[in-house]
Amino acid sequence: MIKFPKPIQDLIDQFCKLPGIGPKTAERLVYFLLKQNKNEIDEFALSLNQINNSVVKCSICHNISEKDPCAICADKNRDHKLICIIAEPHDLAAVENTGEFKGVYHVLGGVLDPLSGMTPDRLKFDDLLAKLQKNKVAEIILAFNPDMEGEATMIYLNNLLKSFKVKITRLARGMPVGSDLEYTDEITLSSAIKNRKEM
Ligand SMILES: [Zn+2]
Repeated sequence: MIKFPKPIQDLIDQFCKLPGIGPKTAERLVYFLLKQNKNEIDEFALSLNQINNSVVKCSICHNISEKDPCAICADKNRDHKLICIIAEPHDLAAVENTGEFKGVYHVLGGVLDPLSGMTPDRLKFDDLLAKLQKNKVAEIILAFNPDMEGEATMIYLNNLLKSFKVKITRLARGMPVGSDLEYTDEITLSSAIKNRKEM
């Protein structure tokens, strides 16, 4: 096996940590970067640096944002009595892209999966309860992937929120079982929001 110069090997190792990237792809990406001009590599490095230094988590909804609170939480024209609970920030982007939802969000930070160590204490449940105690909330939409972990999380949430007398809905079952919110097309996701069902 050939031994790469250390700076190259270091970058390959960094790429390998990314999801879906194996050593061969990592090598290809590094060789691609080596062919770019210096400015382009500088811009790439700057972008990486910016996500480290200029992106914060919104203290209200836990979405990633440039400001705290994020633009959605700070928007008075949105319906703050309507909260959509999602697993990850990229799910927020998927729901937001449908243009169908005018409420606010709560990013849980994952889904329940005890076998992988995702127990309730690792998700933003406490924070959600505090929010419900403090604010008047009319409806909570559970927008999770229709897979085992997503279903388990929705059942857990439904039990957790029962005592609050808030309407709890979930996306319509138009989405194929096992599908991923992030990759569901906007029309399907939009109709799943519109036709949401009470839990
Ligand atoms: Zn926010």
